[in-house]
Amino acid sequence: MAASADTTTTTPSCTLAGRIALVTGGGSGIGRACCQVLAREGAQVVVTDINLQAAKHTLTLLPGEGEHVAVAMDVRERKSVEDAMKSAQDQCGAPPSLLVNCAGVVTIAPILETDSDSWHKNIDVNLTGTFLVTQTFATSLLENGKDSKGAVVNIASIDGKTGSTNLSGYTASKGGVISLTKTCAAELASKAIRVNCVLPGLIDTPMTASRMRELRENLMRLIPLGRTGRPEEVAEVVAFLLSERSSYMVGACVEVTGGYGM
Ligand code: NAP
Repeated sequence: MAASADTTTTTPSCTLAGRIALVTGGGSGIGRACCQVLAREGAQVVVTDINLQAAKHTLTLLPGEGEHVAVAMDVRERKSVEDAMKSAQDQCGAPPSLLVNCAGVVTIAPILETDSDSWHKNIDVNLTGTFLVTQTFATSLLENGKDSKGAVVNIASIDGKTGSTNLSGYTASKGGVISLTKTCAAELASKAIRVNCVLPGLIDTPMTASRMRELRENLMRLIPLGRTGRPEEVAEVVAFLLSERSSYMVGACVEVTGGYGM
């Protein structure tokens, strides 16, 4: 696990007080840091992950015992997404009005060696998952929300803008998330749901620690700030984009990369 700064200290003005925020992939890495920062900002957090145990562990790291909930969700499966959204609404008494699409996977292989299963895994989780969860979230909010004002942040990747060797399925999925963000932003703004995305660079998480060692060493030389990012450095930007402090931002792609890929 990457070292984390203390993200649980209460700030004088909680920018997300009274809001219900659902985070996918909340059991690890950037998703877990998002849960911590959103809870610090006063949101009631619905931690979702394909791994319910990991989501439950995230709960133990959040301020406000008993306030937040953990729900299993496989973002690839419509039924799982709809069941989780319903469970969130039942447990919180209202549908979530804030969403972070963070669940993700990466597979590494040259294009000539990428098989269809590997390709589909990236597309199914990273892109189709973002579509399914956003559609279900927006439907539920517009049908059942007391205050239907919503905000969505998609976690794409700088690789979705630049492309990257040996990451064909991943970069294609993340490029798709960037354009999906803009389409959803254009369609949902008139319904009071703002959609934006964040493009992280190289962030210290289990995803990069265990599976991207070689890539990581090459990339480090290309980061102007000369270091990897911390999950909470992404989460702070996510919290900003979900809050009313970013009320005029729609369809934006915010790079959090230490200067890599600008
Ligand atoms: P991570 O630590 O591996 O967290 C990803 C989480 O998503 C894990 O808990 C994972 O569960 C979960 N997940 C995987 N498949 C899922 C599914 N079908 N449904 C629901 N949850 C699922 O990775 P991370 O680095 O925090 O990445 C979070 C997001 O940031 C991803 O979208 C990633 O592409 C993006 N990102 C990361 C970096 C980086 O440098 N770390 C850079 C750019 C973008 P399991 O562990 O059980 O698979």
